[in-house]
Amino acid sequence: MKKYLFFLPVLLLTVILSPVTSHAADTWSGGFSSVNPIYYNVHTNDTYKNNYIVPAARNWNGISSKVTLSNWQNSAAAIEVYAETTSDPDLLGEFIPYYTDNFGRHRDTSCYCHTWNGGGDLIGYYDNMNKNNMTDSQIISNYTHEFGHSLSLGHPSESSASVMHQGIQSIGPQSLDKSNLRKRWGY
Ligand SMILES: [Zn+2]
Repeated sequence: MKKYLFFLPVLLLTVILSPVTSHAADTWSGGFSSVNPIYYNVHTNDTYKNNYIVPAARNWNGISSKVTLSNWQNSAAAIEVYAETTSDPDLLGEFIPYYTDNFGRHRDTSCYCHTWNGGGDLIGYYDNMNKNNMTDSQIISNYTHEFGHSLSLGHPSESSASVMHQGIQSIGPQSLDKSNLRKRWGY
């Protein structure tokens, strides 16, 4: 994945916009058109995949009958999952959705209001996770958070417990996350 050339400007944009996006709605209007199932393809070694990424995806299954994250090691999967490094010392993970229209493929990072027919990249930054001595459950929680974004969940405004709050946590989906998931996709 050749991302480096446009990576720095986007990170700067993320920092500038973060006060705005952190006030985003609990759920985003945009997203994949259907997530039952939605397929993810993992680009790490099998140990990393089985220890962290598969458990993180499974955390979202069984909450709504309309939501199933399913591993499919195929280039046609909608979500591409990576473990990478970053020059941003504070970034633990990122989900980058894309949509395509007549003018090409675009990142949906300004409004999260498009239909993600171009798929998405889900990235955990292992250099920063290592730097923070994150435990296995914290790493799973980090990937769970990013998978939550892939299911159109934003950062909640409520202060109650949520895996969708930013920062280092060791929790899976909480009551607030489950109700937001059902609010977005149905029961
Ligand atoms: Zn987030």
